[in-house]
Amino acid sequence: MVNKIETKLLHVDKNVEDNKSCVHIVDAARLIRAGEVVAFPTETVYGLGANALSDEAVGKIYQAKGRPSDNPLIVHIGEMSQLALVARDVSDDAQRLIDAFWPGPLTLILPSTSAVAKLVTAGLPTVGVRMPDHPVALELIRQANVPIAAPSANLSGRPSPTSAEHVRKDLAGKIAAILDGGQTGVGVESTVIDMTVYPALILRPGGVTYEQIKSVLGQVEMDPAFLVDAETSPRSPGMKYAHYAPKGELWLVSGETAAVRRKMEELLLQAKRSGLRTGVLATAESASLWSGKPFVDAVLPCGSSSDLAAVARDLYATLRAFDDLQIQFIVSETFPRTDMGLAVMNRLEKAAAGRILSV
Ligand code: AMP
Ligand code: MG
Repeated sequence: MVNKIETKLLHVDKNVEDNKSCVHIVDAARLIRAGEVVAFPTETVYGLGANALSDEAVGKIYQAKGRPSDNPLIVHIGEMSQLALVARDVSDDAQRLIDAFWPGPLTLILPSTSAVAKLVTAGLPTVGVRMPDHPVALELIRQANVPIAAPSANLSGRPSPTSAEHVRKDLAGKIAAILDGGQTGVGVESTVIDMTVYPALILRPGGVTYEQIKSVLGQVEMDPAFLVDAETSPRSPGMKYAHYAPKGELWLVSGETAAVRRKMEELLLQAKRSGLRTGVLATAESASLWSGKPFVDAVLPCGSSSDLAAVARDLYATLRAFDDLQIQFIVSETFPRTDMGLAVMNRLEKAAAGRILSV
């Protein structure tokens, strides 16, 4: 049993020049340097950070999240000079991606240096590194003056946090502080790309799209393992765990629009008859079709089917909102696997844990 600690809630403005924000970032940086764990906003989701060079500090991340220790963490750097501290052999292709997308939601898998804490890489010879595109995150890393290892700041298995309130609900009493910088932007995690193989291999789709990477590298592949519950041994250890799941059972229905809606209605009626509280993960376009129906307890709009980036932005908050409403059975349509749709579908498929119907 972990002892409860007091979690400081520190409000910060994106304008880090602001005096009060600065004081709070100084405070959080001091905690990082003292080997404590601090949640902070990034442009993707909230991260749970600790000194990436200290096994003792990084151990507290795994403990707070309940994360399996064979699932490595991403190292966040605040300036380019920190890259050489954690990674070796940056290839020309890796440098091209850095030039094109950093700071931003792209994590490069590179050969690790011995300075990186063993717990960060889960014993692998490689390390995942990125420079986040968020003024608070960058200022925190700069002030801490060490690279910060940070997974998403949720309890392992839960939807990732896109607000400080999500972090508080999962981790209050378990971590030293939460820097509250408001809602995050992209809404899903960074893209993870393995640069130690040729062609480069996308291990996890995320905030930088396959299309964008292809336009820079010319050639890039996608790991078939992330296209759902592949039984094969996953290359990115994080891929084998159930993730992002709401407490209710999520079902995805794909196919032609009218057939999908019929199937969704059938599933909802069935669930309602068995006494469950039901919900629909809808879009701006489909929400009105479901609201007011006696067999649906909650219709939550999540972005728009014509704007996949908006679906990504709202996705985790929507999954968490079903929990707040005690919804036990959720159905969702699927989205095209292009641009941000690839990351959205990857997260939805994991949250649905294989409950996917094609009609
Ligand atoms: P999270 O920080 O919770 O978003 O998860 C980080 C993701 O990056 C997980 O899917 C990890 O498995 C993956 N990752 C981190 N480091 C490595 C690495 N060295 N090799 C492969 N995947 C990695
Ligand atoms: Mg995570």
